[in-house]
Amino acid sequence: MTMAPNSDKDRDKTEDSTVQSTKPKSALETARRQLHHAADHLSIDQHVVERLKHPKKVHEVTVPVERDDGTVEVFTGYRAQHDSVRGPYKGGLRYHPEVTRDECVGLGMWMTWKCAVMDLPFGGAKGGVAVNPKELSSAEKERLTRRFAQEIRNVIGPNKDIPAPDMGTDPQTMAWLMDAYSMQEGETTPGVVTGKPPVVGGSKGREEAPGRSVAIITQLVCEYYDRQLEETTVAVQGYGSVGANAARLLDDWGATVVGISDVNGAMYDPEGIDTASVPSHDEEPEAVTDYADTLISNEELLTLDVDVLIPAALGNVITEENAEAIAADLVVEGANGPTTSTADSMLADRDVAVIPDILANAGGVTVSYFEWLQDINRRAWSLERVNDELETEMQAAWRDVQAEFESRDVTWRDAAYIVALSRIAEAHEARGLWP
Ligand code: GLU
Repeated sequence: MTMAPNSDKDRDKTEDSTVQSTKPKSALETARRQLHHAADHLSIDQHVVERLKHPKKVHEVTVPVERDDGTVEVFTGYRAQHDSVRGPYKGGLRYHPEVTRDECVGLGMWMTWKCAVMDLPFGGAKGGVAVNPKELSSAEKERLTRRFAQEIRNVIGPNKDIPAPDMGTDPQTMAWLMDAYSMQEGETTPGVVTGKPPVVGGSKGREEAPGRSVAIITQLVCEYYDRQLEETTVAVQGYGSVGANAARLLDDWGATVVGISDVNGAMYDPEGIDTASVPSHDEEPEAVTDYADTLISNEELLTLDVDVLIPAALGNVITEENAEAIAADLVVEGANGPTTSTADSMLADRDVAVIPDILANAGGVTVSYFEWLQDINRRAWSLERVNDELETEMQAAWRDVQAEFESRDVTWRDAAYIVALSRIAEAHEARGLWP
């Protein structure tokens, strides 16, 4: 049995040749298949579909960084800009050893669909640096970020392309990026990135937002299938900002969270875990297993006989190898791309409802949009307003996706893609092809 990775940390530990060779489809391959699958349900101009298979631009840069010992190491950075027909490019920056051009393109495509399904006035992008951030001191990370910001300065901006945190980056990274950009522009430009600390123009509630949206969507999908949250059991893979926030909210709202995990394994308690008492990865890295009375493996966590499974760590953890063994009735994707396309079809054949990442974890980019509005207007919103508006946006997107799900008799993923793709195709149609 292979151990399914469940956090950034875990991913670093799985970089041996065995894991690499069995590694499922790349994000780009999965994203392209999903695009075709959804496009088959719509009568969209083929040239638009063809166009959307490719990024508009991919910027590749060299990032030399002085290490604390005085040596210089050179890293490669990317910014893949997929589509901007509905507004400026938007998406995270990842610091991870496995960052590649193709991964950024695939993840950038997902951002295009995510922004469209939420009806945000943004396109999609993703970027990052192929580096292991855990091997860098804070000062080295700062130098790397500032130099990367300088290298991509001409292609980002509040009306061009707005980065945000992703795996291996955080509010501090965004503050450095914003500062480097602002210093070069000669004016403080908070709207160039989102996910900043609130003290420099970040939004309240931004860090919790992806986990909050996962919890909101889980509640809505349970309601849809006539399940009371009080009678629902949940397993969450990953206890970082997405997994821990989703687990704690669902716990507060009455669900029984029976399994949570970190890189080393999972905690299991059929009576329900007191999620508030277990530190999240951000509060105390890899603490889940330290607090566990009953330890199970990550693979066992994924196949627990629960009502709802929330993979909220890495991509490609539900694969053709374990899809048959997934016992949950509902899968709500907290991570980006946790289900391979083959596994997705296998789950669909077994009538397991999979609520896709582009809807479920879209709270992050939605509150990024609120942050961008606050920056432009130079006016901060209260946490209550952020959470209320997030809830309203999630409910609206859920209704749009539900309408397609019911009228077309497709999977939830296809329904979400259909909503997104229709909006994008319409925008391309309206703007036309020029020059
Ligand atoms: N990295 C997050 C995501 O994958 C957020 C992107 C953003 O806020 O721009 O959705």
